[in-house]
Amino acid sequence: MYIMVINCGSSSLKFQLISFPEETVIAKGLIERIGQEDGAQFTLTAGGENFTKQPVDAPDHTKAVTAALEALTAGDCAVLKSKDEINAFGHRVVHGGEKFTHSVIIDDEVLECIEECSPLAPLHNPANLAGIYACQTALSDVPNVADFDTAFHQTIPKHAFYYAIPYEYYEKDHIRRYGFHSTSHKFVTEAFAEKNGKKVDEVSVVTCHIGNGSSLTAVENGKSVDTTMGFTPLAGVVMGTRCGDIDPAIVFYLMENENMTAKDVDVLLNKESGLLGFSGISSDMRDILEASENGNERAEISLKICAYSIAKYIGTYVALLPKTDAIIFTAGIGENSHEIRKMICGYLKGLGLSLDAEKNMTRGKACCVSDDNSSVPIWIIPTNEELAIARETRNELSE
Ligand code: ADP
Repeated sequence: MYIMVINCGSSSLKFQLISFPEETVIAKGLIERIGQEDGAQFTLTAGGENFTKQPVDAPDHTKAVTAALEALTAGDCAVLKSKDEINAFGHRVVHGGEKFTHSVIIDDEVLECIEECSPLAPLHNPANLAGIYACQTALSDVPNVADFDTAFHQTIPKHAFYYAIPYEYYEKDHIRRYGFHSTSHKFVTEAFAEKNGKKVDEVSVVTCHIGNGSSLTAVENGKSVDTTMGFTPLAGVVMGTRCGDIDPAIVFYLMENENMTAKDVDVLLNKESGLLGFSGISSDMRDILEASENGNERAEISLKICAYSIAKYIGTYVALLPKTDAIIFTAGIGENSHEIRKMICGYLKGLGLSLDAEKNMTRGKACCVSDDNSSVPIWIIPTNEELAIARETRNELSE
């Protein structure tokens, strides 16, 4: 069985073709600059061949999906005899509001609900919908499944998802904590359970997805009970370009004193803050680590600000969970950076965490990296969001 995983941004289409039951990636591609005047570009790896940033006719998402399917069925990278071999599409959808608690097969009602959630994710949901419509047009008989970034967090209890602002704004504007990165938090929780021979509802963990965007989740008996991102992905820990939690009064202060509009502050806090904003160097952790190594003080402090913000939430979540079976690090930084893991754990001495220096050097492999004295085991589990979406898609179809 072949499942094609689709992740659409406003001007991009990322896809993977995954075969089941082997769970092998048959093809992996990206079409970027969709609809841009100087033309779209196609990067593809399939059938042992690859090409990078080739021009492609993709003025819209429908044409981009057509181009992807053509490349998979003809030419040097062909891996399928016909596009009819594809059994299902699995789509990443950013916002499912309060309507979706798990993945669903897409029908007209689901499309309407995703549309209704668009005001909550105005940059993402319309792009995700464009990808779904494009797949429906390309292969009208093939089922489409939606996997929501918000779904795993729908088990968060009321006292953790409401904000203490007048209730009418929850009722009118749906303002509450939603949380994101569902696919990843769920995937690493399930992987941890499997590796430890337990059912997922038997494990309680703190999952730390630390990449360009970062969030932590407290998982109690397999269910999300709190997470650091909020109404939007701006909240929580310090990220590549996002500030994470700040005093909300800073927003009005900037508007009044710097003569900024709401849009200006939005751009400042989402795109120009975090590691990039404070260090003035880069949003990429590897650049900051290198600059810090070379004695750049602002780089060194930005590493500390970032690690400290993560440590604070780990401490909080371990204190709130009745028991914690593991702290799990995942995503680009969480999986790869021994330095950041060491700094984070260094801020949590009172918790009795203890990394094994040698095991902590591990990269890209699921394993425990703490020593026997650690009060809570510390794990690395590489995330795989595409595989997770493909699995969810297969599961929805077999139900
Ligand atoms: P995204 O949120 O875009 O999916 P990723 O999960 O790919 O992001 O994470 C990207 C981040 O991971 C970047 O800041 C990058 O510098 C960092 N990263 C990747 N490899 C390493 C490494 N070996 N050491 C430190 N940071 C790393």
